Amino acid sequence: MPTPLDDLLAHTRALWIGTPSLADFTPFPDDLVPTTQSSSPAPAAQKIMDWQAAPNPITGALHTAVQKAAHLVNWQFIYTEAEVGRHFLDNYAYFELIGPTGHFHSAQCNAYIGYWGPHLYYPAHHHASEELYFVLSGEALFESDGDAAATLGPTEHRRHASHQPHAMTTKDSAILTLVLWRGPDLGGSSQLVTA
Ligand code: ZN
Repeated sequence: MPTPLDDLLAHTRALWIGTPSLADFTPFPDDLVPTTQSSSPAPAAQKIMDWQAAPNPITGALHTAVQKAAHLVNWQFIYTEAEVGRHFLDNYAYFELIGPTGHFHSAQCNAYIGYWGPHLYYPAHHHASEELYFVLSGEALFESDGDAAATLGPTEHRRHASHQPHAMTTKDSAILTLVLWRGPDLGGSSQLVTA
């Protein structure tokens, strides 16, 4: 009997291999090994489970699979309250589905699911790995150094180069994203840009 995490991986794989913006960025990994990551809570998990997003024929199945697995995943917090504030931490959450510390281990790439609630500002940050944001539901304004800002919705994507600072702002809608990283430094973390 497949678990909600197995279903989540299957829906992620189906979207990934069928979507050129994802598959061209990095192939779906072929070295996956399930891990024994335990679950950890996030204040925003219930908000994800309660979010009835407008159905999208391409991303809707993955949105639902995330909701069904939201109580089982290892939600992570890389920023402190001093850095981003309590409101941000209560309305944002992400977990590593695939990667060095993910629910499915891979050394080839990382795949995260990330959620930001309405009216949030994710300050500029950067990391060594190259990144692709793919919007599953909702929308946000994406800003990155050297590129024109853009508001992106379901099935739209945006790339960030290694150490290119980028920020994101939500308005009335939340956003749910699939975020892919490719080398170098897949085990690395994000650094906020400090003034
Ligand atoms: Zn990033």
